[in-house]
Amino acid sequence: MKKRIIVIEDEPSILDNILYSLESDGFEVCACTTGGEGLEQFRKNGADLIVLDVGLPDTSGFELCPLLRQDSDVPVIFLTARAEEVDRIVGLEMGADDYMVKPFSPRELSARVRAVLRRYRPACEEDLEAPSSTQEKRGIPFQIDDERVQVTYFDELLSLSSTEFRLLRILCKHPGRVYSRAQLMEIAWSEPEAAMERTVDAHIKSLRGKMRVVNDTHDAIETHRGMGYSLREKW
Ligand code: CA
Repeated sequence: MKKRIIVIEDEPSILDNILYSLESDGFEVCACTTGGEGLEQFRKNGADLIVLDVGLPDTSGFELCPLLRQDSDVPVIFLTARAEEVDRIVGLEMGADDYMVKPFSPRELSARVRAVLRRYRPACEEDLEAPSSTQEKRGIPFQIDDERVQVTYFDELLSLSSTEFRLLRILCKHPGRVYSRAQLMEIAWSEPEAAMERTVDAHIKSLRGKMRVVNDTHDAIETHRGMGYSLREKW
């Protein structure tokens, strides 16, 4: 099935180039020239990925991104005309999956779209293609068994609560990627508003304790002060 991309960009020439490139790469593309239109399209029909211009006539990409991600973790690639906006874009505030500074080549954007979609492949698709050894391939000492809701760490089974399992599973998905407490809450809890940030800290602490029992020379989860946590990338 074709992957559906929503492109929200108000400059017609840029929009045309993007459309041409993505469509010739086999994507179904929905073009929107305002933030409002983009949000409506996303809420109505969804998308596998969103290409989002920062400077829009009715809103900004910065304001729109949290709305798009309210009930989804749809990947977003930002477009910006200003290199100085990049920090904000990739920072935790927006947590963009990627960005491109204008002027850029539409071919390059297409390549980035494919790369981000590969990273975001749902777990079930990954499992079909790479049974059981997905985590090993990335060079991290975790084996995640979604069906049994079990994780082994250096070949030893960790006894985890369901929340700890979900947290660890998220971190293992992208070693090195930093997740804010809010993002972790949103992903790991069904009712994020009911949970407090310090709950995440408590669960992370418990996770660390359980992993330390298995191996106390590695700290598998790194703390990023004021930001959140990531799974250690280099082992
Ligand atoms: Ca613009």
